[in-house]
Amino acid sequence: MKVYFIGAGPGDPELITVKGKKAIEMSGYCIYAGSLVNPDILKYCSKDTRVYDSASMSLGEIINIIEEARDDNKDVARVHTGDPSIYGAIQEQMSELDKRGIDYEVIPGVSSFLAAASALKQELTLPGVSQTVIITRIEGRTPVPETEGLETLAKSKATLCIFLSVSEIKKVVDILEPAYGTNCPVAIVYKASWKDEKVIISNLSDVADEITRNDIKKTAIIIVGDVLSKNFEYSKLYDKHFKLSYRR
Ligand code: SAH
Repeated sequence: MKVYFIGAGPGDPELITVKGKKAIEMSGYCIYAGSLVNPDILKYCSKDTRVYDSASMSLGEIINIIEEARDDNKDVARVHTGDPSIYGAIQEQMSELDKRGIDYEVIPGVSSFLAAASALKQELTLPGVSQTVIITRIEGRTPVPETEGLETLAKSKATLCIFLSVSEIKKVVDILEPAYGTNCPVAIVYKASWKDEKVIISNLSDVADEITRNDIKKTAIIIVGDVLSKNFEYSKLYDKHFKLSYRR
């Protein structure tokens, strides 16, 4: 018996990995994070699979179901949105499984910031502009360590992918403006890869109004940085003067 922590991808059920889909198909139990995982993913469950939505469950309740599956000698597909390693709250589940000697495996998924970059048809690491992508969030119920505050990260001028923060856009703008400048481009991708995906291209001075106008309150990624202005140098990777051995 094994528990599979599976990244369901950002929404489009075709963006799950082949391995993740197979694990769902063969597991007798499926516990999915219903607040964000597209329920269409559940079509990969077999007809006898016992399906649970973890949105309203505590950690203890989730573990109880996993123990039930163990007693039943059935595998569990524990389905998380995007990639489970990003704001997935999987570490505590794995710790509890360690205590019980229950075996598990993590199957990665396409994180929503990558689906947002695809929606924008945008490379996040442009030569001469930014070679660093920072995944971060503004403080919510979960505190952010002081050394990682947005004001500190802003000094890098790197490409920022800000999760869980669209409802706090005014605060994000106030913190970023001094470092990035009011004209710095910002993209908001709401429900990347879902049928009702929305893309807003703006800048730091206007983005808060745009978000209000479009009534976006959650499930969005904020991408900030000069890469979005598409002013860049061509990469050395496909430069004809560049030796093949450097391409690895
Ligand atoms: N593990 C997930 C993130 C979970 S935290 C991942 O890798 O994507 C939840 C936050 O992720 C949301 O508040 C939002 O900022 C972002 N998010 C999740 N799905 C999204 C989507 N389809 N489009 C845009 N943002 C999304």
